[in-house]
Amino acid sequence: MRLFVAVIVLHIVISRAFELKNFTFGDHDYQSLQNILHESNKKCPEISQIYTLTEKSVEGRDLIVIEFTADRPGTHIAGKPEFKYVGNMHGNEVVSREVLLALVAYLCQGYQEKDPEVVWLLQNTRIHILPSMNPDGWELANSRPRKNGQKPWLDGRANAKNVDLNRNFPEVDKLEYKYEKLENGLNNHIMSLKKALSVPGLAPETRAVIKWLYSIPFVLSSNLHGGDLVANYPYDESRDDRQGSQYSASPDDHLFRHLAKSYSKHHPSMADPMRKPCDMSGDQGLPEFKDGITNGASWYSVSGGMQDFNYLATNCFEITLELGCDKFPYPEEEKQYWKDNKASLLNYMFQVHNGIKGVIQSDGKRIPNATIKVVKMPSGSPIKHDVLSGKQGDYYRLLLDGDYKVRVIAEGFHPEERCIAVANKHMQPAQVVNFDLIPSNEEKPNKQSMCVPTKQLDLSSGTEQKLQDSLYDRIYGDYVYNTNDNQWFNYLQRILQTATGN
Ligand SMILES: [Zn+2]
Repeated sequence: MRLFVAVIVLHIVISRAFELKNFTFGDHDYQSLQNILHESNKKCPEISQIYTLTEKSVEGRDLIVIEFTADRPGTHIAGKPEFKYVGNMHGNEVVSREVLLALVAYLCQGYQEKDPEVVWLLQNTRIHILPSMNPDGWELANSRPRKNGQKPWLDGRANAKNVDLNRNFPEVDKLEYKYEKLENGLNNHIMSLKKALSVPGLAPETRAVIKWLYSIPFVLSSNLHGGDLVANYPYDESRDDRQGSQYSASPDDHLFRHLAKSYSKHHPSMADPMRKPCDMSGDQGLPEFKDGITNGASWYSVSGGMQDFNYLATNCFEITLELGCDKFPYPEEEKQYWKDNKASLLNYMFQVHNGIKGVIQSDGKRIPNATIKVVKMPSGSPIKHDVLSGKQGDYYRLLLDGDYKVRVIAEGFHPEERCIAVANKHMQPAQVVNFDLIPSNEEKPNKQSMCVPTKQLDLSSGTEQKLQDSLYDRIYGDYVYNTNDNQWFNYLQRILQTATGN
């Protein structure tokens, strides 16, 4: 019930958003794309900076990024999560490019006009926007005449060397599918930057993005496309190619479904079950996208995609958004696309504040590359996708509401474990859970684990269910908000004692 109320409140808050002024909708070519970024940077110099990725496109165009954050743009600050949007990876899918340019203007205007959501977002997040990953493809698609109102379906999709950039990333899925069969197989950061860049056949646009992914500790991202209307989440590649399209769940499947819905459900038609499917080719057996979302591989299997590379090679969680049936609509239709996507684009950025974050240190010294493992409680089932702490010892672990055990492992230190309750709230940063590790050459105080998995209790099965229900009601009904894990643990202990009579 509380969740339901929260969703309604969230919707009201977001739909109150202000109107975009001084922005001309229409097709923005390479020059006008640059102009918009530079104008926004000029208007909002204190909260933005522009940079280009390390490589240019095949035809020598810059891959330009604008970054927004309220404090020290250009610098990663421990505790402030990094977010990115990538548009126009397929050059002929232009809606993403246009809505991202509108978003750039919106963030600058929103900050100047002190819109509470934009201000909060920029004070607590570092946001990077790459409106076009394939500027050469856009030029080609734009040059093609329309037939019956439509541009050719594929011209300009690939880069100028005819490479489909969303099939060009190092193949990590197959590698992970091998690892997951092993007892302690790698489940994250499965490819080093050097290894990734040594993969033959990388396009310069792909190389540029790979280097970008390894240079900034991104936490959440989306890769924006067109040609359908759906939010697509990992994995993109089937576990068994012979089976064709098959649901290929990642260890964070529940979380990814939530992330995808956080976009689709704020869009006026993406999650609408009555909407007309994008029947562009007249194919039979059109997919049904329940809630406006789909697992990538269950739709159609893709290898070398960008979203799975983000998830398996770095700490970044990425989904792929299809913003509409029409890949290259008429310029006068673009304002409506912005209206339809504005609330979703904003709401999705807030998701970077879900879960927990903190710093791993020992005696005040920050520890990079510590492994953060998470176990779902009270079931005790591990989420087999770890994240690593960054150069400043900071970590971010996106999590849904619920109870978890978090274990931190770092070379040269005793492992440390904490029990936490996550209750995500709109416009509230992720819960801070810091870890102070003890060097392994020092004795560790014999501290009992603070987590109490229900399965360790001596209860008959009926009692266990009742106890869990009661715990859920009592914890989520009135307590869990704004608390820390220690208080929560004491509270849990008290309930358990009452329920079990000891
Ligand atoms: Zn696409």
